[in-house]
Amino acid sequence: MPNKALEDYTVEEAASLVQKNVDAIILVDTDMGKYKALSRKGIFKGFIDETGDYNELIEKLWFHFSGTNEKITKDYAVFVSYYGEFKGKYSRRLKVQTDGSDQPSIIQMTVYPMKDSNIYLFVMDELDDDEYVQEFMTTNKVNTIQNAYLFSMYIDLVRDTTSSLNITEVSDESVNSDIKYSDWRMMIVNMFKPEDQEQFLRRSDPEYLKKNFPPGRTSSFDCMMMNLEGNFIWVKLIFSRAETNNEDDYRFVFMVQDIHDNSIELLSTLKKYEKLALTDPLTEVLNHGGIKAEIYNAIDNHKRDGEQTAVLMLDLDLFKNVNDTYGHSVGDATLKLFADIIKDRISEEKAYFGRWGGEEFVIVCYGKSDAEIAQMAENLRGAVEDRTFPEVGKMTCSVGATRLKDDDTFESVFDRVDKALYSSKENGRNKVTVL
Ligand code: GH3
Ligand code: MG
Ligand code: MG
Repeated sequence: MPNKALEDYTVEEAASLVQKNVDAIILVDTDMGKYKALSRKGIFKGFIDETGDYNELIEKLWFHFSGTNEKITKDYAVFVSYYGEFKGKYSRRLKVQTDGSDQPSIIQMTVYPMKDSNIYLFVMDELDDDEYVQEFMTTNKVNTIQNAYLFSMYIDLVRDTTSSLNITEVSDESVNSDIKYSDWRMMIVNMFKPEDQEQFLRRSDPEYLKKNFPPGRTSSFDCMMMNLEGNFIWVKLIFSRAETNNEDDYRFVFMVQDIHDNSIELLSTLKKYEKLALTDPLTEVLNHGGIKAEIYNAIDNHKRDGEQTAVLMLDLDLFKNVNDTYGHSVGDATLKLFADIIKDRISEEKAYFGRWGGEEFVIVCYGKSDAEIAQMAENLRGAVEDRTFPEVGKMTCSVGATRLKDDDTFESVFDRVDKALYSSKENGRNKVTVL
């Protein structure tokens, strides 16, 4: 078009200028859920079809990870239709990955909802100017830092509304969504691990929030939630009631914080402490508390399932002599080797092994008949007898064993196994007694 004076331009000419200079013009029929591309240039030729499903267009523009064309997990698709609703003019930049290009493209998009009609007009332009791209990348960096917060939104319990609902990994801007809080709860609940869903529903219940949150109160809880890639991660859910001088005004900020890495570290520390609390430091088998708990468990399991279970007690013979002759540290090494011999022998069994105290050890063994228990006790006794202990030479042990009975208590079991052990000692040591 030759240069003309401004006053000579018509609206039609201006419209044709727009058509020439923007990369894509798309009309959407929101009733039909369809779009039609009136004009497509450059990347949009391959990226957007001539006609298609509106939700698919929204999904393509929003629901992918930045920098790739990989879509986010389909569980989040329930939100797609809310992202495609516009009340007023809306403008933003998007980063999309088009097929056949290793660089993401930055798109400037403006949406014009047509007054009193079901039509939206999308105008899109690829930004190829380096400066824009630089600026966009900086914003992205800031977002990465803020991404510790996955969601944030405002809730008004009285009007049952949410707003500024966003998924920061995908969008860098809030979308005014018209999703009802009561609907939102039921949509999002499926994103939690099944065992966490009850807690989420209870603590996000409007009545619960009204009752437990005075103005200004913030409270949080942790649970596992599916991220955009479809993996469960640890998150902190934070509800915070706005300060107000009106008792009937229930407005909240809700946030989801990614706490996955810290939680995993914390859990592994807790596991370590749990193990430490139940382990005997010298022999590294269960300590007194640990094996005692296993005797109680065995009694409960037997009462519930009738599972046949045996309790064995092993005591090193004349161990005091080792200490007296070779010293305490040789005594310790002897205890450790004794525990290792037994541990090794029962490694294939469904059995728990612990140090009762001093040179006395207990085994809780599941699923063996009387004859098998007697045989096992005999094998253990023999294994100790056969071994040569460094410095000390030969050692033996005495064993007492008993099977759990239906009406057993901890005391009655312990009484029998103690008597059995005592009788092995009485009979000259290096013996097995089953009672
Ligand atoms: P018996 O055959 O009748 O069982 O005789 P025993 O000498 O083994 O039994 P006694 O109960 O008289 O002695 C047990 C000894 O075990 C006494 C105690 O000093 C020693 N002892 C207990 N705990 C430890 C330990 O952790 N390390 C060492 N080195 N010795 C220990
Ligand atoms: Mg002893
Ligand atoms: Mg003893």
